[in-house]
Amino acid sequence: MNELKFLNRLVASLEKFPGVGKKTATRFAFHIVEKFSEEDVKAFIDALVSTKDKVKHCQTCHVLTEQDECEICQSPVRDHSQIMVVKDTKDVLSIEKSKQYNGLYHVLSGLISPLEGIGPDDINLDSLAKRAEDPVVKEIIIATSFTPAGETTALYIDKIVSRQGLSVTKIGYGLPAGGDIEYADELTLRRALEARKKI
Ligand SMILES: [Zn+2]
Repeated sequence: MNELKFLNRLVASLEKFPGVGKKTATRFAFHIVEKFSEEDVKAFIDALVSTKDKVKHCQTCHVLTEQDECEICQSPVRDHSQIMVVKDTKDVLSIEKSKQYNGLYHVLSGLISPLEGIGPDDINLDSLAKRAEDPVVKEIIIATSFTPAGETTALYIDKIVSRQGLSVTKIGYGLPAGGDIEYADELTLRRALEARKKI
């Protein structure tokens, strides 16, 4: 159906979402054409443009936020002696939902993975090393997954943040091997946190 060039262009855009192939993208595109009202389309465009424009990374912990520094970093009631290192903002949202943790975070935006061409310089490790120098910080809790990339990243972090009076721990058992924090439930997260141990 080459004459449907606008529809094909929409399909090509939708195919850029992770896990969305041509079939699903085509289904979405047809849905937009046939079911979306003019207002739906406008609201969608507005949400897309304003999210891309307003949402950025916190200058301290790199979590996605709409301010220069996120609410968690600014909060006086959070425990500023603990920094939990996670892969991405989705992990922060899961942990926050579980209400099992009251410290700060550091979001890496990826894990070291030579196979995918991601090295230590490609994720937010420099800023973590700097934050770890602050004497207020007493513990770095590494909450990367139990995958080769997660373990490599954890070992690397342990190497770059060591200083006297700072303990570096990794969350413990409970999370399924290779499992992501993103999908862990409250109880599993609590157990994993309680069972954290020094690397
Ligand atoms: Zn922050």
